[in-house]
Amino acid sequence: MIITDIETIPLRIPFRAGTKSDASAWGDSNLPAADSLLVRVTTDQGLVGWGEAFGFRAVASAKLAIDQLITPLCIGQPATRIEPLMLDVQRKLHVFGRGGALAFGISAVDIALWDIAGKAANAPLCQLLGGGAAGLDCYASLVRYSEPSLVRAAVRQAIEAGFGTLKLHEIELSAIRAAREEAGSNIELTLDVNCPWSLNEARSIAKELKPINLKWLEEPLWPPENFDGLAELRKSSGIPIATGENVYTLMDFERLLAARAVDFVQPSPAKMGGLSELRKIFPLAAIHNVPVMPHSFYDGPGLLVAIHATAALGTADSMIEWRWFDLEATIYGEALRTKGGRISVPQGPGLGIDPDPDVIRAYRWK
Ligand SMILES: [Mg+2]
Repeated sequence: MIITDIETIPLRIPFRAGTKSDASAWGDSNLPAADSLLVRVTTDQGLVGWGEAFGFRAVASAKLAIDQLITPLCIGQPATRIEPLMLDVQRKLHVFGRGGALAFGISAVDIALWDIAGKAANAPLCQLLGGGAAGLDCYASLVRYSEPSLVRAAVRQAIEAGFGTLKLHEIELSAIRAAREEAGSNIELTLDVNCPWSLNEARSIAKELKPINLKWLEEPLWPPENFDGLAELRKSSGIPIATGENVYTLMDFERLLAARAVDFVQPSPAKMGGLSELRKIFPLAAIHNVPVMPHSFYDGPGLLVAIHATAALGTADSMIEWRWFDLEATIYGEALRTKGGRISVPQGPGLGIDPDPDVIRAYRWK
């Protein structure tokens, strides 16, 4: 089975009218839409696989990386030799960097090839990985609202939808405290601040955060690869630390874990190399007694591949990040929904669900 075509499909799905988010954490003061990048890989036997690259403002550059650099290395190659092909792509392109848009593009193609492998075997990906849980706990990953009353409303809605664990992307203590007050003490809260502080700054802020009783504090330090700083903060603050969405290679994950920098490790399948790389992180993390909590701030194949990998390879405490976005549409629509804070692992072949063609038609941007 030979790869005959790789199509890149950028989508722009706006937030529902009348809703408010403040996504300054991702480089926009106000986020009007969520951009994603899908890839569609076609084979000479007619099988089609879907992948996803990390999106937002990186969509155009990831698209260029796929179209100009990755696709020419994949066309004409056997679709079922995934790891050797992806390794070959990594080796041929390593001089252009081991992370960023290029890695997002490699991730997307890798995920699509795994989707094809599952379809060829007529089995869901979790079966190809050894089988596993039929359903998984999710946590609701909220956008940043900043204004305490909006934070409260979002927290309330997520709890009413059945989530027992929520992730905040707030920076201001007033907003974080409002979330804890609204949630009460039985709901688990995590806080993702996206790499703002030096170790000294983080140390003093951690004293304020300690009484809020976070399940974890995510990416507290600048730069993200300050693993020794994270280890130091973890020890001195007594607050569990999570990171990993900006770590790209197996060797860097080993460095992160060996530095004892984290309580939860968060590889991001649509950033760090797709399923071929993600599946290596589970045994590595197990050696270090650290649960894997995949970063899946997406709603396409990147999310589905995190679900399949976690179902097959995760531990009892692994959870799925479910983006709590108020968008006009999602890539899988009603076919992929949480219920009572849990998600069923799709049992169709490959990723289990294909993107909704009506959503692609309506939200594709050129
Ligand atoms: Mg994060």
